[in-house]
Amino acid sequence: MAAQQVDRVVMITGGSRGIGAATARLAAAQGYAVCVNYTRDATAAGRIAGAIVADGGRAIAVKADVADEAEVVALFATCDRELGRISALLNNAGVVAPAARVDQMDAERILRILHINVLGAFLAAREAVRRMSTRHGGAGGVIVNISSAAARLGAPAEYVDYAASKGAIDTMTVGLAREVAAEGIRVVGIRPGLIDTDIHASHGAVGRVERLAPAVPVGRAGSAEEVARAAIWLMGDEASYVTGTTLDVAGGR
Ligand code: NAP
Repeated sequence: MAAQQVDRVVMITGGSRGIGAATARLAAAQGYAVCVNYTRDATAAGRIAGAIVADGGRAIAVKADVADEAEVVALFATCDRELGRISALLNNAGVVAPAARVDQMDAERILRILHINVLGAFLAAREAVRRMSTRHGGAGGVIVNISSAAARLGAPAEYVDYAASKGAIDTMTVGLAREVAAEGIRVVGIRPGLIDTDIHASHGAVGRVERLAPAVPVGRAGSAEEVARAAIWLMGDEASYVTGTTLDVAGGR
């Protein structure tokens, strides 16, 4: 365990499954205490946090919908109380919707995507800055925003609304990074490509990974752990001069 990483605390929104869960496991192995946020699946969240504790680490599972301001405030307050002040945020909670053209989308669908993927990411980033910024008495830290290759590709006939929500995240990464760069905070992003997690089937796209994988330049889908490794690097001191940029982890897609 790297000495300088002992006592670091990371908040992972959507840490119970997929990319968030893989990052929770790797972060714990690096010595981070981990706040595993989830919104529906308490069993999955408890499993991740429980495995970390069983391995001698520190972790808690905390339910909160990132699109709900009061719940986000309570989530961070619980983390302060139980684990201590965060030094990193993985802004990861995100959803897609069943494939549709824009001319088929209703306002409710679009707003749900924007509320969770954009508003939720802003609320979590705000709480993180309030704790990490030297302007607020903090000791600095890192925010890693999970975007998507869809922000570049646009996701036509699948989910342009989702792609646009991730475009907003890419812009937030640049703006917030510059806003807090002199306050000890780095803000970076990751654009995962086609990653083999539940997100596809749980939003009605059963078989999407198998169907699209051959078209990825490297010829396969990525794993959640391949994204998590990039997140851990970006969070760590080895990336100390990296801010305001978003890394594609997309197999060339
Ligand atoms: P996933 O397997 O579906 O897991 C999503 C996680 O987010 C779960 O822990 C879920 O918790 C949580 N979550 C969902 N809505 C939430 C909310 N409103 N508040 C708090 N937590 C919430 O997804 P994933 O594939 O790992 O995706 C993670 C991130 O990567 C997302 O931002 C996604 O857009 C992005 N991404 C994924 C891919 C891909 O191909 N998989 C590609 C590009 C980008 P519950 O189980 O409790 O709902």
